[in-house]
Amino acid sequence: MSFNNLQLIDPILKALSNEGYTTPTPVQEKSIPVILQKRDLLACAQTGTGKTASFALPLLQLLYGQKQAPSHHPKVLVLVPTRELALQVSESFAAYGKYLPLKQVVIFGGVSQHNQVRALQQPVDVLIATPGRLLDLISQGYSLVKEIQYLVLDEADRMLDMGFIHDVKKILARLPQQRQTIFFSATMPPEVQKLSDSLLKQPVKIEITPPATTVEKIEQSVYHTDKPSKPSLLLHVLKDFAGESTLVFARTKYGADKIAKGLNRAGISAAAIHGNKSQGARQTALSNFKTGKISVLVATDIAARGIDIDGMGCVINYELPNIPETYVHRIGRTGRAGASGIAISFCDAEEQPYLKDIQKLINKTIPVVKGHPFETAHPQPAVPAPKAPAPAQKPQQNRKQWKGHHFHSRHKKTGQQSPAMRGNNMAG
Ligand code: AMP
Repeated sequence: MSFNNLQLIDPILKALSNEGYTTPTPVQEKSIPVILQKRDLLACAQTGTGKTASFALPLLQLLYGQKQAPSHHPKVLVLVPTRELALQVSESFAAYGKYLPLKQVVIFGGVSQHNQVRALQQPVDVLIATPGRLLDLISQGYSLVKEIQYLVLDEADRMLDMGFIHDVKKILARLPQQRQTIFFSATMPPEVQKLSDSLLKQPVKIEITPPATTVEKIEQSVYHTDKPSKPSLLLHVLKDFAGESTLVFARTKYGADKIAKGLNRAGISAAAIHGNKSQGARQTALSNFKTGKISVLVATDIAARGIDIDGMGCVINYELPNIPETYVHRIGRTGRAGASGIAISFCDAEEQPYLKDIQKLINKTIPVVKGHPFETAHPQPAVPAPKAPAPAQKPQQNRKQWKGHHFHSRHKKTGQQSPAMRGNNMAG
């Protein structure tokens, strides 16, 4: 399958070729035709699957096809949970719409609204927004959603996790009823399902399973230890990865800060990113990490979710996640362009049940590192006998083909963009 088979117009194909994309990812293959047919879509897919292009490409095409006069009322609204994701989605629209005469504005909280409001005084086709800032501007009297024809809810589960449900509902109540709705979520807990049921009209449903084979390729290990020993264990483990970019996952924002501070005190350059950090601080940490100025980035799941940091040498789970799928997402960040990566997990007594659930999900016993200086004895949780491999192999093969382009292209662009605000031509 190539992009040429997806009925995309030439200016979009040209932009994709500029980006170095050759093969659509599975979510793109499935979503693009559905959106072009103007059907509602419910897609279960996470960051890293190419989901942004899967809605941005067909929406740009539909907008372009409408040939409407420039207007101050956006036609496409993309609601996202975080500022980072807002910027990434905006970056994607800019890249894919480079050869189209369409305009976009991105708005999010945590910065002055001045420039955002100024950008909204120009004609705009696509509005990318976090719910809080959008609602804020609407309540100040800015008429931003009156003519929305296409709504995308991106990372809906995260939006709900972050407590945006009320803001989202208030925004939804102001949108025209007559519209196409596209709903993306990595997971489908009952409340997300409820929201999607209330929004979508006879949607086409697609599900992109996390690439299970990725997990098999990654060299995973677990260190049994106790909570107070984790800081020393981290220093011990990091000795083996000096100079490599390492992503450390922490469960809480406070924990992430504490870990980064401890590393810095020990002479290891590290920074934490999480929702409490200012936009500027997060962007600086990220670009320092990407350029190698700091070697360790400590992130919470929410903060890491919105950012494009794949291709780590090593991912360390300082704390094990209580949702086993999160483990798969986290360790999927390791491994460069088809190469296998390393994922290390610290497990204390309280985390034993999490380890058990993770092993059940990945259908594999994670090898235990024995004889390290901070070891505590823990019983190995029982794991069911391996089943025949699930049929998740095919999407993975596709992912391998396109993954190589990915880190480099985003990496390059992130350094160039203004973190504050962009209201611009798609050409950026
Ligand atoms: P997303 O899941 O939308 O965050 O996309 C993950 C990354 O994959 C982004 O850096 C995209 O630039 C990149 N990407 C998306 N689609 C493709 C593709 N078809 N070929 C190569 N890279 C892609």
